[in-house]
Amino acid sequence: MSRHRLFSRESVLLAAALTATSAGCASAPSARPNLDATLWVQTAAEYEAVTRSVYVAALAELPALLADSARSATQEQGGDFSTLPPAVILDVDETVLDNSPYQARLLVSGDSYSSDSWADWVDERDAEAVPGALEFTTGAAALGITVFYVTNRRAHQEQATRDNLDALGFPLRSDIDVILTRGEQPDWNSPKSGRRRVVASTHRVLMLVGDDLNDFVDVDGLTVDGRNEVVKRYSESWGHQWRMLPNPTYGSWERALFDSDYDLEPSERTDRKAEHLEPRGEDNE
Ligand SMILES: [Mg+2]
Repeated sequence: MSRHRLFSRESVLLAAALTATSAGCASAPSARPNLDATLWVQTAAEYEAVTRSVYVAALAELPALLADSARSATQEQGGDFSTLPPAVILDVDETVLDNSPYQARLLVSGDSYSSDSWADWVDERDAEAVPGALEFTTGAAALGITVFYVTNRRAHQEQATRDNLDALGFPLRSDIDVILTRGEQPDWNSPKSGRRRVVASTHRVLMLVGDDLNDFVDVDGLTVDGRNEVVKRYSESWGHQWRMLPNPTYGSWERALFDSDYDLEPSERTDRKAEHLEPRGEDNE
């Protein structure tokens, strides 16, 4: 039996028993087969190989982006930005901080995601760095590039987030706000374009790094096909000014599978998601 087929079958069986999280985003609790995804992040050597690959390549391209003052990484950059100081924008959760221990807790306890348990985890300030993120951000700072963190962690969680990042050695400026949290300003909502625009008003943005399409362009509410069209539309940015990290545990990709319909019962949600499987082959037509 192929690994793929085994995973798919297990996914269905596990769905009834396991719950998972929507860490760092606005999602409601959901039941889903998150065991393999969490184990992949926590145990697969391939995970670290991927994240390090992304960050090593990203750092290697920064000098060229720094030298080309006509370029910006973000749609929100306007006017004459050629003389603005350089910056990079990174997401926090599953981009620079690894919250897989929180996912593991939910799987072990059988609890569903809740904003309270997530808040407890954030308050512990105990997340470790995504492999490669520290080297990338400190390397960027050494080039004179300001590192901004645009996160959907809530405004009241900014200090705990700062403490966690600081303890790990991530570059943080104290003269300007470089951690832009959700709700910190009245119009800083879940979509991140507004906060990217704020950064772009004072800095030329060289690169965006994230684990979710929303870290690059606002896509919430789009279908699976719509999201894939967005990726194709910006094909020239991927691997250059836009750097995506893997997150199999949660994200807007998963919400798109059930149309963000949180009124669905867990079994209905699983059914809705399973409709997206593409087994192909004669036996499946
Ligand atoms: Mg994230």
